[in-house]
Amino acid sequence: MPKLLMVEIVLACLVAPAVGADAPREKRPPNVVIIFADDLGYGDLGCYGHPTIRTPNLDRMAAEGLRLTQFYVAECVCTPSRAALLTGRLPIRNGMCSDTKRVLFTDSLGGLPHEEVTIAEALKDRGYATGCVGKWHLGHLPKFLPLRQGFDSYFGIPYSNDMQPTYLVRGEEMVEEPVEQTTITARYTDEAVKFIRENRERPFFLYLPHNFPHTPLFASEKFAGTSRRGLYGDVVEELDWSVGQVLGTLREEKLAEHTLVIFTSDNGPWLIRNQNGGSAGLLRAGKGSTWEGGMREPMIAWWPGTIPAGRVSAELGCTTDILATICTLTGVQLPKDRTLDSLDLSPLLLGTGDSPRESVLYYRGRQLMAARLGPWKAHFKTQDGYGQPKYEEHDPPLLYNLEHDPSEKYDVAKAHPEAISDIRRLVAEHEAGLEEPPSQLEIR
Ligand code: MG
Repeated sequence: MPKLLMVEIVLACLVAPAVGADAPREKRPPNVVIIFADDLGYGDLGCYGHPTIRTPNLDRMAAEGLRLTQFYVAECVCTPSRAALLTGRLPIRNGMCSDTKRVLFTDSLGGLPHEEVTIAEALKDRGYATGCVGKWHLGHLPKFLPLRQGFDSYFGIPYSNDMQPTYLVRGEEMVEEPVEQTTITARYTDEAVKFIRENRERPFFLYLPHNFPHTPLFASEKFAGTSRRGLYGDVVEELDWSVGQVLGTLREEKLAEHTLVIFTSDNGPWLIRNQNGGSAGLLRAGKGSTWEGGMREPMIAWWPGTIPAGRVSAELGCTTDILATICTLTGVQLPKDRTLDSLDLSPLLLGTGDSPRESVLYYRGRQLMAARLGPWKAHFKTQDGYGQPKYEEHDPPLLYNLEHDPSEKYDVAKAHPEAISDIRRLVAEHEAGLEEPPSQLEIR
């Protein structure tokens, strides 16, 4: 029998009090850093098989930690994917999706609802310093910016780097418009390093969502023209440098063994950008699609001395699981008054057990397009290109064994009706408990 997808998790750990600057380092809960790339594909890193993009820092991070090969985001575009990461809830539950507007735009009046509990809010109650540096895209009006969602500080472009006007915010003040984008990765990196150094004596949470490699692409003078993969490669190699700066700072400050760092991306490569878009490697399609290339991402977890080095795992995970995983590792209680889509991956990270996740739901806006259970994925609807408004419906659904056929080439629905029945049961259980709030993306 499939496990219920929606699991209300009751943690065995005690609700620990806030731990401040006076606690000795070894008594403090771990620091947490999440580095989130924008539109980076499954195949864009050296350690995920790219032949010409050089990513020595991410490759080293993977060699010193855990690299996952079947890790997912909860939506195939920016805004809903980010809302899911920070709340541990599918966008269909937190109002951050729509069938008519895929993401928040510059004329949007909505944002992440304040009743949602972000990772920053959960950790702030435990005494963490919380900083956000980079692309927000969960509401650009001051009332929705990071300072109102659990972060002590914010520096970044509040949405995508192709949206006009492109401006930079510190706290809630606009400080630059238009943004000099060639130096933005370097400036985000400086801010991140400064945040780590300033908070080295207390537990901290740093959320570092980069604006790149979302287009338009810009690299600094140091990286422009240096990659064999062209401008896209320059940009990814600069992001890799940035990861190296963050991990290097943690080592210098003797915080590496007290810090969990997670690296992943918000959605697959933006293929309609042609050579300025990335690669999903052997996976089918990219950003905006519920084929694997749109939603399966690189994921590396690093915590020297706690996460065993050098492991690669094909266990399942999703960005919505990061909330529950962090709460377990930091001794924070999860919100109990709502349905979460967050499963605790800490046994997988620590090497003590397998992932509890057996299924994945593939949403596009409010449409549940596909579902995965074990190795089987059924597509009820498909939509190939980024801009195409029409779904193609499939009854019976298309069925792929993703572990035999990661490129989703061979429909085996006829041979495996039992796999389709199991997935239909999973979807029925999910939909039976679903309450959909109004869409924040449609507020103008
Ligand atoms: Mg994106």
